[in-house]
Order: sequence, then structure tokens, then C-alpha cells
Amino acid sequence: MNTLHLSREETARAAELLRQGGLVGIPTETVYGLGANGLDGEAVSRIFAAKGRPQDNPLILHIPGPEWLERYCQNIPQTAYRLAEAFWPGPLTMILPRKSMVPDAVTAGLDTVGMRCPSHPVCRAILLAADVPVAAPSGNTSGRPSPTTAADMAEDMDGKIDAIVDGGPCSVGVESTIVDLTCTPPRLLRPGGVTLEQLEQVLGQVAVDPAVTRLMGAGERPRAPGMKYRHYAPKAPVTVVAGAGETSAAYIAAHAAPGDGVICFDEFASQFPQQVVRTVGPARDTEEQARHIFQALRAFDHTQVTAIWAQCPDSRGLGLAVANRLNKAAGFQIISV
Ligand code: AMP
Ligand code: MG
Repeated sequence: MNTLHLSREETARAAELLRQGGLVGIPTETVYGLGANGLDGEAVSRIFAAKGRPQDNPLILHIPGPEWLERYCQNIPQTAYRLAEAFWPGPLTMILPRKSMVPDAVTAGLDTVGMRCPSHPVCRAILLAADVPVAAPSGNTSGRPSPTTAADMAEDMDGKIDAIVDGGPCSVGVESTIVDLTCTPPRLLRPGGVTLEQLEQVLGQVAVDPAVTRLMGAGERPRAPGMKYRHYAPKAPVTVVAGAGETSAAYIAAHAAPGDGVICFDEFASQFPQQVVRTVGPARDTEEQARHIFQALRAFDHTQVTAIWAQCPDSRGLGLAVANRLNKAAGFQIISV
């Protein structure tokens, strides 16, 4: 099967493929998603096959606006609408009690469902033309870094899906923030494009799920099933070096072997003349780092490096999301300096 490569103008074609039960790569502001009609359980099951995704890891339903929430969710708290007002369309997913019409394939049998209203204009055009909720996880093979360009998605999915729509590089670069509204206080399950500080401004107290900052033990079950898997990982093992930029750069320069890979902030690139270096942006610019982190991780799979060292931002603002993706890529192998 060949994968169609559609331009951003060909949204009607993409919508038709979705309505017919096809699998379509869709640009969003966070990362590229692998979409199917979220009301068609069989089509949704094929997402799991194409990605090699564990069956117990539920998908997010993408909708064009908060007025669609009531179709698929029940007992919706007022906080959901306050969050929608503040952050939709945008990179925020809310976990809400589901209605029974949502296929089990979407929720992996949970009684809740993740709901998101994306802001990417091409994605919105596809959702409106398809006129169905689109179930979509990130468009990578399970375990690999998420794709932030159509080419990255094609690398993983060519021949396995019906089409990829090219909407350009993603503007956020890390997946959506996931907040669980079925518990008190609301709980951050995954940090993303909407920051913890922004959520707290609307919600007051927000709990942070332990899976955000540390490895889950064998018997532990994080509330977002996806957070228990090693993730975002290039083939070579990653070691995160956390601490002030100068200190972490000095540590990596002292410990990296010639030919190792280094992910670093722009200012420090010249300190690693014998390594394979990928910069992700200035040390202070976590938005830029978020846009580049997945491509940096992916890039090493096209090299011969056998070990990767990474500088890491602190947890303020978008730094929490960037650090979470790096730490997961490293299997939480973190050296604090
Ligand atoms: P992906 O889009 O590939 O990042 O995957 C979606 C993420 O949302 C995974 O980490 C899932 O575990 C999480 N997720 C989806 N639905 C739910 C839900 N009902 N409850 C908790 N987490 C969810
Ligand atoms: Mg994913």
C-alpha cells in the first residue's frame, strides 16, 4: 500500500479518507498525529497496528470546539469550560468521563476519554470537513520520538497508512498537556504546550502525577497509561545531565567520548568539537527547545553514535515538558550536577 502525500490544500480528500475508515497523518500544532474516525472502532484499531502501540494505551479525541464535548462526555465540570475558554483551540487535553458511544478501542476500556481541540488551521479544516471526532495519537512508531514534520512521520509510517497531510513543521513541538478533571484537585498527567503555571492560574491547585518526574516502578500504574512506557527514545542510550548550563556543558565535555552524540543549548555547541552535536535553541528559550527536541533525538538514528548526552532545562514553564521528554528518552537516567 502506498501512502498518499497530500498538500495542505487537500484537506477535503483527507477528510473523505477519514470518513471511509482510513488512517491519515495529520499536522497539529503539537506534533503530527495518526488519525482515524474516532467513532469507527475498527479504523481506530488499525492505528494500534500501524504504530505497534500497546493495546492498553488510550487515544485522544480531537474535536473542532468545546460545544462537541457533550456529545462524547458526561458529568462535565465547569472547570472544563473554563479551561476551554482559556486554552482552546490549543495544546491542552482534558480527561473527562466518557459516554458509552465512544468506542472501547479509543479509551482502551477506561471510563474516561481524553479530549482536545487543536489550533492548527489544516487540522481544524480537516476536522470540520470530516465532521467526526478524530482519534489520534502521535504519528510515530511506538517508542520512537514523535514526528514534528511530515517527512519525519513518513519515515515511520510510509506504506502503513493511507495518507499524510503536509502542514509544515509543528509550532509547539511537544505533545499536548494532559490534565485529568475527574479527580480533585485536577491532576497534570503529562506536561506539554500549556504550562503547569498557566493551568494553576485557571484551576488554582493542580497535582502533578508522579509519572511526570520519575520512572514508574514495576507495580505502579500511572493515570495516563502511556506514561509508563520508555518513550521518545533514539536507538543509542541517552544520559541527561541536569544543572546550570555552564556546569552541565563542562560535565559532558569531560565525560563524553569522541564520536558520542550531544544535545545541547546553542551557546555551548563549540565545547564539543569531537562529538556529534545537535543544538535545540538558546539555554533560556524553552519554546525553541520544545520545537527541536524530537528532531534532535531522531537525528541520531541516522548516525553511528553509541551514546547520547543531553543538557536539560529546569522545570519552569515549558522546561517541564522538554525535561520530561528528555528524561523519558533517557529512561530517567539523569545525572544532576
Ligand atoms: P499520544 O497522543 O501518542 O501522546 O498518546 C496519548 C496519551 O494520552 C497517552 O499518554 C495516553 O496514555 C493518554 N491518554 C489518552 N486517554 C486517556 C485517558 N482516558 N486517561 C488517561 N490518559 C489518557
Ligand atoms: Mg505518543
